[in-house]
Amino acid sequence: MNFVINKINFLAWGIMGLIVFSSCSSTSYDLIIIGGWRFNNTTLKMEPNTGIYIKEGLISEVAEESNQKAHTTIQLSDDDYILPGFIDLHAHYRVSYNGVAYDDTVAMPRLFLANGVTSTFPAGEIEPEKMWHLSEQIENGKRTGARILHSGPYFGTAAPDWDANFTDKDIEERVDYWAKRGAMGFKAKNITPEHLKVLIQRAHSHNLTVTGHLNSGVGNSVNPQEAIIMGIDRIEHFLGGRLLSDSAHAYASLQDLNPDDPALDDIIQLYKTNQVYFDATLGTYGAIGGIESSVFEDWAEENKYLTPFTRSLVEKHEISEFNKTCKKIYPVKQLVLKRFYDAGGLITVGTDRPLLLDNYLGSGLGGFFIHRELEAMVETGIPSQEVLNMVTLQNAVAFKLDSLAGSIESGKWADMLITKGNPVVNIRNTRNVYKVIKGGKVYDTKYILEYCIDKLGLNVDDL
Ligand SMILES: [Zn+2]
Repeated sequence: MNFVINKINFLAWGIMGLIVFSSCSSTSYDLIIIGGWRFNNTTLKMEPNTGIYIKEGLISEVAEESNQKAHTTIQLSDDDYILPGFIDLHAHYRVSYNGVAYDDTVAMPRLFLANGVTSTFPAGEIEPEKMWHLSEQIENGKRTGARILHSGPYFGTAAPDWDANFTDKDIEERVDYWAKRGAMGFKAKNITPEHLKVLIQRAHSHNLTVTGHLNSGVGNSVNPQEAIIMGIDRIEHFLGGRLLSDSAHAYASLQDLNPDDPALDDIIQLYKTNQVYFDATLGTYGAIGGIESSVFEDWAEENKYLTPFTRSLVEKHEISEFNKTCKKIYPVKQLVLKRFYDAGGLITVGTDRPLLLDNYLGSGLGGFFIHRELEAMVETGIPSQEVLNMVTLQNAVAFKLDSLAGSIESGKWADMLITKGNPVVNIRNTRNVYKVIKGGKVYDTKYILEYCIDKLGLNVDDL
């Protein structure tokens, strides 16, 4: 019996050895992907994939001929569609409960990657040191996860260590320190005009962009309108402008905003003139508001990725005032976003799904939520091919990363996702992502997700 098994093993090894040997002897690429369709970010169309040639983590060639050799070849079928890896510019890793907040470095990075999100900007890290180590380990291949486009800590009172009395020099030193530690952009939240101005100037001196979760101008907060004059690069959540009363918080005014108000044109024009990007993070407001729409259905049983304790917290949630406010804000945001798009405004894409266990944000986890965000944007009337371009190349351009990411072109990172069914025809087909390629390495969505079951969030022992 043993002899038979050994013989079979020997034969199997012999055959495998032959395959490896024969392919290595004439290998010029690490990976070739042939067949199916690929998204072209210039024409915004799917075109037949004649061959994507990958070497040392980069796309070496997008070529016509297919007689090249590689260590691995992926042959796709006619219902396979290749997209550039998604870039999530508002990708929180944060979990918080009972006054404690931390960045999840186990399940979150994998959930993003499994869903085709190959690059994430964490948009203000709670534990920047831990995130810095995570990004290093991911880059070195020691851990599985999406790329971390390191943001460093928040700038503003959203940072646990923020001091309202920071001087200009303190802000400059904080920017310099994190720029040196590999931060690729910064995020302001709950910041004063004085501090924001210094942040923007200093970040730009490092050629890094700044985005902001701002306010109406109430108190000593900053309205996006003022931030644009200061030179901010991107704005999250709401457009701002004088339509938001500076005697009330942004959310309070936003629910009563008239999306047809002609005064909205002024603020949209200001964005266009200054080439400032707007990331509406639309879908999260729908989820928080409990909007009934097929966009927000749970097609992937996402709660199974939560730890049992976290799941028990989520299941006994109560509806808060914030949930009710977001229910009113969602339809307003849909119309504002469409109007911004129709006027030619520049749009970026982000999910904004921290796991806040004291403040129920509706269902849908980071990673999976990218598909909801894309569908929510298409539901406003923005064409699906435009939305696919926004979450890939336009996000890369807005983040000054387009020399490395955002499209399937030679010289760029070999970051892609493969999905069944054409997402240009039906945006929901991005949900069918089953293979993700990051830096030329191939991942199966199924196996990454299996690893994440019961892993996201807190355990009873953590308390
Ligand atoms: Zn956020």
